[in-house]
Parts: sequence; structure tokens; C-alpha cells
Amino acid sequence: KALLYNMTPEQKVYVDKWNENHPEDDLVTTDDKLDAKTVEMAKGYDVVSVLQVFDIDEEEVYRKLSSYGIKQIALRSVGYNIVNFDFIHKYHMIVTNTPAYSPRAVAENTLTSAMYLLRKWGPILNNEKEHLNFVREENLMSDEIYNQTVGIIGVGRIGSCVAEMFHALGAKVIGYDLVENPANEAFLEYTDFDTVIKNSDILTLHTPLEPSMEDMISAKQFKEMKNTAYLINAARGPLVNNHDLIAALKNKEIAGASLDVMTGEEAIVMKKFNDISELPVDYQELAQMPNVVFTPHSAYYTKTSVKNMIEQSMTDVKRVLNGQKPIYLVEE
Ligand code: NAD
Repeated sequence: KALLYNMTPEQKVYVDKWNENHPEDDLVTTDDKLDAKTVEMAKGYDVVSVLQVFDIDEEEVYRKLSSYGIKQIALRSVGYNIVNFDFIHKYHMIVTNTPAYSPRAVAENTLTSAMYLLRKWGPILNNEKEHLNFVREENLMSDEIYNQTVGIIGVGRIGSCVAEMFHALGAKVIGYDLVENPANEAFLEYTDFDTVIKNSDILTLHTPLEPSMEDMISAKQFKEMKNTAYLINAARGPLVNNHDLIAALKNKEIAGASLDVMTGEEAIVMKKFNDISELPVDYQELAQMPNVVFTPHSAYYTKTSVKNMIEQSMTDVKRVLNGQKPIYLVEE
């Protein structure tokens, strides 16, 4: 019997299918996020599952879950930085995630971002929609992807998929990772962090977020990047320093950015606004730059991903309840 927090209509379709196919299980859903106010809803369940961008940082949540006999938080996401592992250990719980629900989904979104930026669709659409200007201005001239160097920081599941796609399009692909995987050498050339920063026409981030990696891309890196380069972040917001990014765009140290994630995204993702003045200040500034595109943490958001998130997370719930080792245990 599992309680799935943060349920959305499109996930619910696959939850209902699971219940149909597994009559012995009882998956119950709620729209609420898991926090100190909603944790009591979990009483009477064997396990909870979440998919949220908000940190679960109140000790009370873990203390209460443990007092209800719950031993597992099943994340329906790749990222697990929302969980406080000190409390997980203190209350003898485990965390599972869904690291491989669809690396291609994020990789294809990265490809879309790169082409959108490279072909200057931001300024083109801005001219057309805002100013009814259909002139093919000189500053709208593009480059072709096979002449570009694509730099990947973090060549894991998603990063290697990104490498394979850009390699197939004829781009030169370079990458930096703490661990080099020889299988990726068919698609990219491994090098060091600084070389990737300095040589990329398109720089794309695909690492997890660890505390030491906050502001990995900040003033120093923006100054080193080509002033024609584009930054893509579909990994985690705090990898990029917002203040320095805005300064770099204003000073034309880089040419543009695609941000699927951003520090402060909790204030805007899944919300509607009436006027730009209601947005957080960082977003107000960036939203007025046609060479910047935001997507609402939707890089993963495909039918395949949503289905796999439910199926993979619930498979691990069953394994744990049956005394087996989960497939995707997060070890911190
Ligand atoms: P992964 O674990 O397969 O790959 C991450 C890679 O980063 C690994 O190869 C690891 O060695 C490397 N790495 C770790 N620290 C590094 C460092 N300091 N410098 C360089 N490389 C480092 O993870 P993945 O499935 O490829 O996902 C990558 C990230 O993408 C996730 O952690 C998550 O934050 C993000 N993500 C975003 C979305 C979205 O919708 N925007 C969806 C899924 C995942």
C-alpha cells in the first residue's frame, strides 16, 4: 500500500494501469507535496513516493514516516538532492530513484535547445511576435551544427546520449567527467573542465548537483567561454550562478542560454502569472532577453518518461517490500 505524493493527471493514468495489472497492490495518490504538514497522510501506508522540486528538509517528516513503519522513500525522479540524507540515515530509511526513466528525453530536449539557440529562433520569434518584424536582419544569421564544438560537462546516462546525437549530426563533441567511460570515446573526446569551457560553441551541463558543485559555472567560466557560445542547463539550477549569468549575457560574454532549471525555479514552475513584474527579479531580467529561453523543468517530460517513472519506482517498492534489493538504491 503506497501513497504517491505530487500526483499529476498524466502520471495518474499509469498509476491506474498499475493498480489494474497488480490487484494485490493499492497505489493511492494525492496532489499534495510531502512536507511537515502533509506527512500525517502517510500513516497506514507501507511506503511513500514523491516527485517534487521542493526540499524535504524538516526532520519531523522523517521522524514521523519512520514512526509509521515506513522504510523507503521512492523518488519518481533522477535527482535526489531534495532528500536530507542525514535524516534518512538517522531514521534507518532508504531512498530509491528512477535514474534511467528516459535519458533520451533530456538529450532530445538538449538538442532542441541547441538548435533553437544556434538558429536564433528566440530573436526571430521575438521580432515577429512582439514587433511584427519579418526582416531577415544580419544579426539573425546562424551557424550550422556540424561546424560547432559541443562541450558536455557530465557524460553519464544523459550526457552520453547527448554526445551520441551531436556526433551523429557531425559536430565535434568534447566532454569532461570525473570518470571516463571508454564506450563514449566513439562519440566524443574526453578532456579537462577548463578546455571544455574555453572551446565549446554549445556548452551543456549534465552532472548531478553536489554542494561542492554549486556555482560551477560562474563569472570566471563566463569570462573564459567564447562570446559566441551558448549555455544549456537542464541538469540542476544551482550549478549556474544566476547573478553572473545575467551579467555575462548583458556584457555579451556569451551569446545566449537555454534554462530548463534555474535557482529559484520553485517560485515559477507549475505557476501562471499575469504580468512579468510578478516574476522573481532574476526571471524578470532574463525573460526580457530574446536570446534566453526557459522551459519549466520539462526536459524529461515525455510519455515514455512518465510511464517509466511510475513503473520503475513501483517495481523497486515491490522489491523492497518483498525483501529483495532495489534496482535503483541511492547511496549517499
Ligand atoms: P548520471 O549519474 O548517469 O550522470 C552524471 C555524470 O556526471 C556521471 O557520469 C558523473 O561521473 C558525472 N559527474 C559527477 N560529478 C561531476 C563533476 N564534478 N564534474 C564532472 N562530471 C561529474 O546522471 P544522468 O541520468 O545523466 O542525469 C544527469 C543530471 O540530469 C541529473 O543528476 C539531474 O540533475 C538532471 N536531470 C534533469 C532532468 C530535467 O528534466 N531537466 C531530468 C533528468 C535528470
